[in-house]
Amino acid sequence: MKKLLQILKEIDGKGYPNYKRIQGRYKWPHYEVAVNYVQGDPFASPSKICLHIPLTNIEIKKEWLRDKYREICCKDHITRLIHKSLKEEEERAKGSGKSGMILIDYPGQEVLNRTSVTFSASLMTVSLSVGLPAKGRRILGKQAELIFKTLLPAIVEKSIFQMNIKELETAIILTDQQQAIRAYLKEHELVSFVANGSILPRKSGVSELPLQKAVPFQSPEELEIAIPIPHTTNHLRGMGVKKGVTVIVGGGYHGKSTLLQGIERGVYNYRKGDGREFVITENTAVKIRAEDGRNVEKVDISLFVNNLPNGGSTAEFSSENASGSTSQAANIIEALEAGARTLVIDEDTSATNFMIRDMRMKELISSQEEPITPFIDRVSTLYEQEGISSILVMGGSGAYFEKAHTVLKLNNYNCTDVTNQAKEIAAKYPEEHRYAFTKHEGRKERIVRPESLQSEQGRKRMIKVRSKDTIQYGKSIINLHYVEQLVNESQTRAIAGILSHIERKNLLCSSKTMKDLLKYVQQEIERHGLKHFASSKKGEGELAEPRAHEIAAALNRLRSLSMI
Ligand code: ADP
Ligand code: MG
Repeated sequence: MKKLLQILKEIDGKGYPNYKRIQGRYKWPHYEVAVNYVQGDPFASPSKICLHIPLTNIEIKKEWLRDKYREICCKDHITRLIHKSLKEEEERAKGSGKSGMILIDYPGQEVLNRTSVTFSASLMTVSLSVGLPAKGRRILGKQAELIFKTLLPAIVEKSIFQMNIKELETAIILTDQQQAIRAYLKEHELVSFVANGSILPRKSGVSELPLQKAVPFQSPEELEIAIPIPHTTNHLRGMGVKKGVTVIVGGGYHGKSTLLQGIERGVYNYRKGDGREFVITENTAVKIRAEDGRNVEKVDISLFVNNLPNGGSTAEFSSENASGSTSQAANIIEALEAGARTLVIDEDTSATNFMIRDMRMKELISSQEEPITPFIDRVSTLYEQEGISSILVMGGSGAYFEKAHTVLKLNNYNCTDVTNQAKEIAAKYPEEHRYAFTKHEGRKERIVRPESLQSEQGRKRMIKVRSKDTIQYGKSIINLHYVEQLVNESQTRAIAGILSHIERKNLLCSSKTMKDLLKYVQQEIERHGLKHFASSKKGEGELAEPRAHEIAAALNRLRSLSMI
């Protein structure tokens, strides 16, 4: 530490680039500080430092790092603690003229696998950003000294060495219980569980915090199950959503989409106090929506679309400007390609002609004239032949009553099971016989053309995250706005890193199917850890793990992606 403080004295008042001299590793009494990257000027993105803290100096129990899901929980918890004390310090420093801010990559409500805090066999590493203080372009050495000598140690002391270990234990208990529910779903033919008392609605369209005064979720009696969970003798009660076809009905504004969103987000674990801690959905569930205007590259959508007016093959459907229905069809097939076992669909964001077609329209427009086989005519086959479940919100049409295994009704945010009623109504007003049952042929596998993901003549593309929903990929933009289960910008950064990794490593020196490429990427993440995928050394501490589905979504929306 002395050495660092000495350098800061020497460079005080000098030109900003002299800060580069502090790059290096320094010993503090109970940990090490590594200054890994120093910003070139005061306005550039902040400098990066790491704290390396021996595990022997922290109270974390060995068994809390035993399983991956528990380790993720520890990393998340400590990140939040550090963030909290950084905020407090910032508040305190306000007005006293202390410049120089310290930041940690901050998680949202989800507990994701992230790189802001990581563990090795003997060390915990914390990645921070520091804005090194300056006046104009001159170094403010004294203030920098304050950061390293006072501020940083105070934060480490408070958030790590004096951590309230009970709180971490509580977080571990929660993650154990969430994990147990996930395992229970797998063993009991369930796709989702929504615990009684869950708070599903969010504060606003721009806040993920729970809505105050919300009506807590209560399971319909018929669907209520009790799941044994660890750390308590009580069972957790709530609604079990079985495999098969589930339809959510109800009047407008009665909470249908909110329930569906709760379910689709249940692929992630939530922090204590979120209200969705015990809303758990099997990990491969994918939200499907219409996304007109998107690029589609050789996707076999013949399950849903045939005989397009331009005569193009729908077994290899490509479009630079897909329609509502063809984009929704492509979204489904791509989700299945990436391993989805459950499809989650909301009428609000679907193409009507993709979802249903009634008798009157069938009479006016013959099936020879209509290229689309609506989802309603495939939803049962998908389940019976491929085991793909669907959860749909459908308030505007009773067409799915015959197909549904379960019909849920929302009324004033209260959920009831109206399956029997719906079946009776369906019998009373039978829908005309639909398409003849067709056995669907195996889908065509897509093979990625290696050149389309490799750098051109060895020249690296610029791959940069513009926002949570936008990645700049060379000259083109990947628009992830409609990828609704991408929840955090750190995931987007990881995806961008994975895309550069694919480019750099020439992963595709031989052709691979899309499926294999995704599998390979996941193996690489397992093998090397997420940090390995940072676009640059600078970004190592700012990543969160995306699912295969969101990685696939980015690849699929890449306009230059090309299939053989
Ligand atoms: P629908 O899809 O049935 O039209 P939404 O799910 O969009 O309805 O919900 C309508 C409004 O009601 C939203 O503003 C939502 O935040 C709110 N809301 C949903 N569920 C609840 C609840 N359980 N308690 C209180 N408000 C809720
Ligand atoms: Mg709705």
